[in-house]
Amino acid sequence: MNIILFGPPGAGKGTQAKKMVDYYRIPQISTGDILRANVREGTELGLAAKKYMDKGELVPDEVLIGIIKNRLKEQDCEKGFILDGYPRTIPQADALAVILDEINKPIDAVLNLEVPDEELVERISGRLMCNCGASYHRTFNPPKKDEICDICGGKVFQRADDKEEAVKTRLSVYKKQTEPLIDYYAKQGVLITLDGTKDIDEVFEEIKAVLAKFA
Ligand code: ADP
Ligand code: AMP
Repeated sequence: MNIILFGPPGAGKGTQAKKMVDYYRIPQISTGDILRANVREGTELGLAAKKYMDKGELVPDEVLIGIIKNRLKEQDCEKGFILDGYPRTIPQADALAVILDEINKPIDAVLNLEVPDEELVERISGRLMCNCGASYHRTFNPPKKDEICDICGGKVFQRADDKEEAVKTRLSVYKKQTEPLIDYYAKQGVLITLDGTKDIDEVFEEIKAVLAKFA
């Protein structure tokens, strides 16, 4: 099953992706997590990406296309994958189509999580995350033990780009550069829009229901 999890920052893509990985046993490919790991490790790519990420801007397309091209060819994507945070621009989507054509893995569905802006800001400002990629919320989804990741036992923290200025930029970047992909995938007949304002478990039940025919 080849899925794109789509939606604005804070819509719940990472949260749902983690549940899907457990349930469907296919990998989550989060370009945000890949970039953050590079920043932590101080790689050349990480150093180049950090200045865009801290401001809430998009990292240049050619960097992302290179990352995705290599990642999708790895063995664990054989049975499918969940793309989380990619594509974010039309050129990224066009490049993805070429890559998927080459490896003969068409997209089954683009799950578009809809959440209004006010709620996105509330979610992002309370988000806590772990280096393993797990995402929590101070109020809506706190870790079981204070400040400790349920999955790996690491210490959770606030992302540098979850501060107010960067959040505003990320939401406007989403509207300008990423939202046009809704039409792009609707025209291809693969777009499925879901109400992302429901509880985490309710959203996941809807995801399972709409993906039943692909599993
Ligand atoms: P994205 O990956 O789309 O940026 P996340 O999965 O990190 O979003 O979720 C953003 C924040 O909102 C996190 O703090 C997360 O715990 C919280 N969250 C995710 N889904 C829901 C939901 N359905 N209801 C309330 N809070 C949610
Ligand atoms: P995310 O974890 O998906 O919210 O991504 C965090 C940040 O990483 C974004 O604000 C961008 O700076 C960068 N990023 C992640 N994915 C992409 C992408 N597909 N294209 C460009 N930049 C990206």
